[in-house]
Amino acid sequence: MAEENQGTQTVNPQENRKPNTNNNRKPNSSNRGPNAQGAESKPNSNSNKNNNRNRNRRAPTPVDENLKTFVAKNQEAHKQRLNPHYKLDLNSNAKIRITPLGGLGEIGGNITIFETEKEAILVDVGMSFPDEDMHGVDILIPDFSYIREIKHKIVAVIITHAHEDHIGAMPYLYKEMQFPIYGTPLPLAMIGNKFDEHHIKEFRKYFNPIVKREAYKIGNDFEIEWMHMTHSIIDSSSLAITTAAGTVIHTGDFKIDYTPVDGYTADLHRLAHYGEKGVLCLMSDSTNSYNTAPTGSELSVGPALDRVFAKAEGRVLLSTFSSNIHRVYQAIQYGVKYGRKVCVIGRSMERNLELAMQYDYIKFPKSIFVDADEVARLNDKEVLIVTTGSQGEPSSALFRMSIGEHRHIKIKPTDLIVLSSRAIPGNEGSISGMLNHLQRAGAGVVSEKDIHVSGHASMEEQKLMLRLVNPKFFLPIHGEYNHVTKHKATGMMCGVPERNILLMTDGEQIEVSPKYMRKVKTVKTGKTYIDNQNNHQIEDDIVLDRQKLASDGIVMIVAQIDGQHSKMIAKPKVTTFGIVADKQDKFFAKEMEDILEHFLINIKEGLIENPRALENDLRQVVRKHIFRKMKKYPLIVPHVFIQ
Ligand SMILES: [Zn+2]
Repeated sequence: MAEENQGTQTVNPQENRKPNTNNNRKPNSSNRGPNAQGAESKPNSNSNKNNNRNRNRRAPTPVDENLKTFVAKNQEAHKQRLNPHYKLDLNSNAKIRITPLGGLGEIGGNITIFETEKEAILVDVGMSFPDEDMHGVDILIPDFSYIREIKHKIVAVIITHAHEDHIGAMPYLYKEMQFPIYGTPLPLAMIGNKFDEHHIKEFRKYFNPIVKREAYKIGNDFEIEWMHMTHSIIDSSSLAITTAAGTVIHTGDFKIDYTPVDGYTADLHRLAHYGEKGVLCLMSDSTNSYNTAPTGSELSVGPALDRVFAKAEGRVLLSTFSSNIHRVYQAIQYGVKYGRKVCVIGRSMERNLELAMQYDYIKFPKSIFVDADEVARLNDKEVLIVTTGSQGEPSSALFRMSIGEHRHIKIKPTDLIVLSSRAIPGNEGSISGMLNHLQRAGAGVVSEKDIHVSGHASMEEQKLMLRLVNPKFFLPIHGEYNHVTKHKATGMMCGVPERNILLMTDGEQIEVSPKYMRKVKTVKTGKTYIDNQNNHQIEDDIVLDRQKLASDGIVMIVAQIDGQHSKMIAKPKVTTFGIVADKQDKFFAKEMEDILEHFLINIKEGLIENPRALENDLRQVVRKHIFRKMKKYPLIVPHVFIQ
């Protein structure tokens, strides 16, 4: 049988090989049948060349057509599973518009608007920090122009988590307009604190606390579910925002922590649930899109803290972000383990810790805490000070301690300072300055890598998110342009076609429907400057003037002019700051005098009767001269008195 079979097959080798190419190409002993073995061992096969070739060709395993149909069925099942297009209603004309007003092209200041035809919601209302050249500006809040424009449509403000870059601008928005606020308890409690501070306590009445895993009908058009997420602040959420167009998953800020301190892992099951149902669009956190190593668990900081406390000889002063409650919690746990009492210093640190304890997010006996004025009475080895100032902020408790200006705590050579945070880009200088002060005072400083972990998803966690949610469209969010670009590449690796990914910048409005996603228009965005001392807005022109003053100085010219003869009555008075050195003042004043004289000789008809136009023209002439000579554009302030 074996020989005959083989003989038959060689008559039409092509025909037989074709359907079964894969099987024939990779023969291995295990999938060769006994027939093939028999053929090869045939004793007289050397007798002719043809036979020789045939002898080396093994007989293909017969194809089980039934199994083959199941391969096709499984391929179809994979296709159904992986291709989200099949799960969306492509006949639907419903669409949703998404407009980020902040948080893209920048880190921080997150605020996004979701709009249907008749209704809109805001997701997060955050603040950001100013650049160094924005003198006297403490925080930046988003420009609310577009919100004013669609105010009548807004049915709610939705909060993902309590970080400043997600809730920091709430009081400023609410002083102007109010909407129902939906969120989990901690973010609402923190917004409540802000409202109290800004004397708008009464707006707490807009709070609508929610329970995770329950879908809330908001307005007529929106249904929203909060899904628990792990991040560097407790009680964080991703959102499933469902409208007639389909479901949009907004991750908020997240990382995937498999061993969170409180045991509340990210709700991967709900994400998978939506992924299974079919997701129109995923908007996912891009902050750490360059990090290839997985982001560490918050719990992984524990052993490093343990080592620090084990070897500390004197007091331990630990500084971290006051919002990172679980970090503070762990620090206190290890402090207590080594017999230390805990002194919490810094307004935001005290407030956040108090809040987390009031609302049962963490629990400590009151007896472990001491006040700052009690520290001196304790043995140094019995003291843990938890404080703010990890970014070297000059107003922070740790900075004031470092320069010896804190009322109760003076730095000692036996102190160990633990900086349990990363430097926010731009703060390196102030942190370094503070470290100089602390070390000059003799303190030891620990700021090792393993004493801090990030709160944002690295590339591998971003992939997990993409695979769980399996969206048709993908909008990388939260990050500068290069972060979202990198996240786009990760999205493509995870099966989202390039044409289904858009990189947004602030103010760009995206329309998404089951059939398409496209940019439709651009709305006004920008930043409003805030002075934190009085919580008031600083007008743009003030900040521009300050920038000019700082970089180019100021020139003031006071002149008295005889209006009839277009002549100076006396020498003009010229005062400058930051433009010429004191010893050149006289020379410069003479130059200005000459310019003024020349200006008056050539003055245009009628200009002398119009002091404002006169001053403007004079300013132009002086500006030209100074730029020609010094390549600077100082503020020029002419005062001309006509007599
Ligand atoms: Zn955050």
